Order: sequence, then C-alpha cells, then structure tokens
Amino acid sequence: MLGSRVSLLTNDTHCLTIYLCKHIVDNKSQNYTPIRETEEGSEMSKREEEFVKEITSKDEDFSRWYVDVIRKAELADYSSVKGCMIIKPYGYELWENIRDNLDKRIKETGHRNAYFPLFVPESLLKREAEHVEGFAPEVAWITHGGDEELEERMAIRPTSEAIICDAFSQWIQSWRDLPLLINQWANIVRWEKVTRLFIRTREFLWQEGHTAHTTAEEAEVEALKMLEVYREFSEDVLAMPVLVGQKTESQKFPGAVYTYAVEAIMPNGWALQAGTSHNLGQNFARVFNIQYLDRSQQRQYVWQTSWGVTTRLIGGVIMTHGDNSGLILPPEIAPVQAIIVPIIFDETKDLVLTRVDQLLKSLSDGLRVAADARDEYTPGWKFSEWELKGVPIRIEVGPRDVRNEQVVLVRRDTREKKVVKEADLRDEMERNLADIQAGLFRRAKEFRDKNTFEVKSFEEFESIMNGDRGFIRANWCGSADCENIIKERTSATIRCIPLEGSSPTGECVFCGKEGRYLVYFAKAY
Ligand SMILES: [Zn+2]
Repeated sequence: MLGSRVSLLTNDTHCLTIYLCKHIVDNKSQNYTPIRETEEGSEMSKREEEFVKEITSKDEDFSRWYVDVIRKAELADYSSVKGCMIIKPYGYELWENIRDNLDKRIKETGHRNAYFPLFVPESLLKREAEHVEGFAPEVAWITHGGDEELEERMAIRPTSEAIICDAFSQWIQSWRDLPLLINQWANIVRWEKVTRLFIRTREFLWQEGHTAHTTAEEAEVEALKMLEVYREFSEDVLAMPVLVGQKTESQKFPGAVYTYAVEAIMPNGWALQAGTSHNLGQNFARVFNIQYLDRSQQRQYVWQTSWGVTTRLIGGVIMTHGDNSGLILPPEIAPVQAIIVPIIFDETKDLVLTRVDQLLKSLSDGLRVAADARDEYTPGWKFSEWELKGVPIRIEVGPRDVRNEQVVLVRRDTREKKVVKEADLRDEMERNLADIQAGLFRRAKEFRDKNTFEVKSFEEFESIMNGDRGFIRANWCGSADCENIIKERTSATIRCIPLEGSSPTGECVFCGKEGRYLVYFAKAY
C-alpha cells in the first residue's frame, strides 16, 4: 500500500516528484485539525488513539504485543503453510540491511560467499553420527521426485555441514588450499513443532560460515574471531547487548567439539541465543575424509569451524527496543532513518511540498530518508504509523516552517521535539541518529544489568525464575545431572560459560558440591 505512495528512496527522488505533481492537481483531503496548531497534550487525534489501541500493551501480554507489532508494522505475516512465515517488504528491507552490514564484516575477515545445494542425500547427512542424531527429529525429507520414489531420501538442509564437507573433501588437496574460508547466505528448514514469528519458524534465512584450517589453534582462533564479529555486530549495529561464552556439553551443536554463543536478554526475562560459532575439531574431517598433504608430504585431516546467525535477530531487535507504540529501530538498520511528513493546507500546499521535495533530495545523499505525501491520511495518522514502524526520526514541515527556513525534528526513542534550522538539519540529523543508536544500546544494557542476578541458593534461583526471570549468575559443579534437574524444576538452562569471569566463587547452586564454573542461566526461546 505504501510502496506506490511513499518514495522509500536512496537516490531516486523521481517518483516523489511525480507524486507531488499529482498532489497539486488533486486537492481533496483538507479536513483535519492541524496537529501542531492545537495545544500541547491534545495532539493525539481520535484516529491515532485507535491506531495505538490495536497493539496489546507490552507489559500486559508480551507475546501478543510481539505479534501485534510485527503484523501492524508489516514486518511479517502468517501464511497458509503451517509453521512458516512471510517476510513482508518492510521486514525484508530490515533483513537486507542486517545482511549487508554483516556480510561486509564477514568479507572483511577474509571469507567469500558461495552457494551449495538445498538437498542433502541421506547417506551424507548420516556420516557424522552425533550430527544426524541431533538433527533427526527436525529434518524434512524428500522421498519422491514427481511420481517416482527416490532411491535415496534427501533431507532439506537443516544446516549444511554435510554437503559442504563433502565438497571440501574434493577441493582441499594441499596445505596451499588452506585456510578455506567460505560463507553461505541461504534458507534452512527445521521441522519445529512450536513456532514463533522470526524466532522459530520451519523455514528461516541465515548465513552459515564453514572454514577449514591446518591446525587446531587456527580453528579455535577462527571460531572465537567470528564470535567477536557477532558480538560487535549485535552491540554496535543492532544495539543489543550480548553475553559471550561457551555452551555446555548438553547445549552444544551436534558434532561440534565446542560451541560458543552470543546471548541476549529480552524484556520478558527470557534469553535469546543470537548467534553461534562452533569449533568442529576434526570430527567432520575424519568422517568426510577431508585431508591435505602438509609441507612434508604427510596426509593430515583439516580442523574446521562453522558459525551462523539467522532472521531471529529481527525478533531480538523488535523485543529489545520496541514499546507500546510499536517498533523502535536502531538507525544502523532502519529501512527509513527519517520520515518527512508535510503539514498541508490548501493555500500553502504547493509551497510545502516543493520544500519537502528539496529536503528529500538534499538529505537522501547518504541517509535513508522518505517523505509521506499521502493525501488520504492526516499528519496525526502518519505520525502514529511511522512511530509504529519504528522510524528513528520524524521531520515535520508546515507552511510556517517553510517561511522560517526550519523544520520540526522528533525523535522516536525519547519523543523529544525540537525546531531545527534547515541549514543545520543534516548535522542535527546525523548527531541525533548516532545518539539514538547509542541510547538504545545504553537502555538495553541497563535493562540487562538490572535483570542479571548473582544467586547463591537454589531457593533464590527458583524465586527469580518464578518471578520476573532474567540472567542468573551462579556457580555450577559441571555435572549434566545438576543442569538437567535445574532445567526440569525451573525451565532455566545454562546459556553460557562466560569467556571471562567464569571462575567459581563457591559451591554449586543446586547440589552444594564444589563449583567448577560461574555460569549464566536463563529460560531461553
Ligand atoms: Zn551441582
């Protein structure tokens, strides 16, 4: 609906110009109360109130708020395919910005993109025993091609280690072929029973890095390097603070030696695993026979890693930053960083729209700016809609502003409103966008710190998990039994053994035996 009316532009202002011309001819909707002419406090019109009412309050029902925001902001929708989602244009633009930013970081660390088949023959998937056992319950199988039953079933990739290791065994012959640093952007299928938009769907989008190295040390360095790429990306781009750490044996990737992860906390106190990086050791190299001739002509198995993040990052961004009016998007990834809303009256329409067009042209060099010149909606309606869509900055331009060579700039995060001279607008916008980006991170980090609890007794542990939840930092003896019982009793799992500060400070929070690690627990998505 918006696509044809609003120029979501980067450098193409042509379509807005055409639309403005249409406006000048077509004068039909002037019957609204101009928003800024009324006194403060009565700014919200009836229609806006209705708009906002359609979103469930975040405190009242967090899960419903989450779905309401996604659907009202037109990020995604359900489809007739059970367990799958449609990513709508606005949501996909968000994903493209996430993808492009991360892709650059993946390439800067020396990796190259490739694309592998969607199908994995059963015999390949079965080679690594722990791997197939881990994925078996959620693999979708293809048994027929047309009318004919296949001689061998094919899995739709639940992850691509098998198909990529098979290729690596052909590609890698000599130490000169290493390291091999590959990334793939692809879709993945896991037959999940319980699904949730963006967080867990049967089909999702992701990137998966796959690398092969000559030494164990080099593979470990790679796994940690990509973990750090994910940490930096989550914090600097998504403004989502994360803990970095290692997974326990029960939580690691099937077939890996170690799994590292970045973990964020959501406003409902649940943790979100936002990315994982695996040191695969030689487990896959041995079963897929990925060998190379070293410098002394000896055959050696390679050492491998794999790492990935998915469209669930969008879910993390929605939950971390959104409020009762809808999304709040970090400027780094917002499809529209600033929306210009003209305040139009019959007699000054031409004047205002011409200025909006000029502003659009001058700002869109380097910034993602759009103008909403739709006739059939009031400015108040537009304000609410773009707030719902989480656009970081709104710029209002009315006839008086044009005469005074100024605009009104409104921030989505703080709702702070100020008059800015046109001459200062670009600087002011850049400053505000940077400030919003930093402010969102700060706010989320404060929330996380406030919701991270040092716990010494299991009673305390249970009472937190029965209350507002959050991250629980506690000593653990290292036994899988303790880990399991804690999960059964409280639904909390060990999210990670932090890379720094994991030295125990006392006895295991559950069994009272000597603590081996100081770990983070939480209930996880
Ligand atoms: Zn214990």
